Amino acid sequence: MLTQKGYRFRIYPNKKQEELISSFFGCCRYVYNICLTYRKDLYVSEKRNVSRYECMRKITLMRSDPETPWLKDCDSMALQESVKDLDRAYENFFGKRSGYPKYHKKHSSVQSYRTRNQNNSIRFEGNRLHLPKLGLVRIKKSREVCGKILNATVSRSASGKYFVSLCAQTEASPMPGSGAEVGIDVGIRSFYTDSNGNTIKSPAPLCAYEKKLIREQRKLSRMINADICRYTKNRRPVYKRPLSECRNIQKQRQKLARIHEKIADIRNDFLHKESTKLVSENQVIGIEDLNVKGMLHNRFLSGPIADMSWSSFVCMLEYKSAEYGTTIVKVPRFYASSQICSCCGYKNPDVRDLTVRKWICPECGTNHDRDHNAAVNILNQALSMM
Ligand SMILES: [Zn+2]
Repeated sequence: MLTQKGYRFRIYPNKKQEELISSFFGCCRYVYNICLTYRKDLYVSEKRNVSRYECMRKITLMRSDPETPWLKDCDSMALQESVKDLDRAYENFFGKRSGYPKYHKKHSSVQSYRTRNQNNSIRFEGNRLHLPKLGLVRIKKSREVCGKILNATVSRSASGKYFVSLCAQTEASPMPGSGAEVGIDVGIRSFYTDSNGNTIKSPAPLCAYEKKLIREQRKLSRMINADICRYTKNRRPVYKRPLSECRNIQKQRQKLARIHEKIADIRNDFLHKESTKLVSENQVIGIEDLNVKGMLHNRFLSGPIADMSWSSFVCMLEYKSAEYGTTIVKVPRFYASSQICSCCGYKNPDVRDLTVRKWICPECGTNHDRDHNAAVNILNQALSMM
């Protein structure tokens, strides 16, 4: 079976390459928006849906048009991928999975473009990566890429760092399983508790960075407020000069973006380590099918849960499980995992109260830790569902 795997590396383009990348972002955005207008107009005037190929033909014509000379120097694969993205946005819209496609903005915080590997145009040469039209770009290659590279996405983060994400295709080779089974209960105080009684805490540095984040965020809003000269009738602020021209405000924005990235890095690193550990050590993993969206609406729970990013953790478990041949079983969220005694099956309604951390089963007298008991129940339920 063929599987696709993603790799993300930091790249260090030189000044010339930075300028090219920046122009490619612009060209892809331009093409996306032009095609969107084209499709919109034709739908209104002729009630006709435009195909992806029609858009691509239009792009080819535009590349030799003297009115848009800059498109000629752009990576043609990247433009085609941009058209494909728009097509996908339309498919999602017609499939009722998302709203009507929107125009891409010039000043969005993360910019990116995707290009395809054609005739080995994306390849490693020593500690450099060859990219179409850019040539050899310095890369921090933290691990080997297995298989054939299909495409590359070049992006620039809000703080001005460059990354490349490579998608490679390989033959899946499920590793021999250990046969172990584990149930997992998401905690509020801890990241999770498993059915073997281990408790995994969330990484501590997050909290420290969050304090710093709040401080720097306040500083930025103070700076922006100082630049307001008046308000319009509908309470929109009017600034003394465009904010993009205030060097100090832009500097503070970058500083804030770096803290956000630092927090995301720590969190992702933690999630990757924990999910790989779980998937590689177990054959079956039982998890609660949590309604994270619903929980985020509860303001008492929202902080820690959003922070622990449970949904991306589940996502990682799922895609890594394919690689290791592990089975993930989602236990329905209405299953009362914390109230049932894992020894005798007695349902204790008193435990519904979230403050009860430890309880003794009135039926069989077993001493229960709330989270551990829930994890054991989730495992049992998962095994019964297989
Ligand atoms: Zn009991």
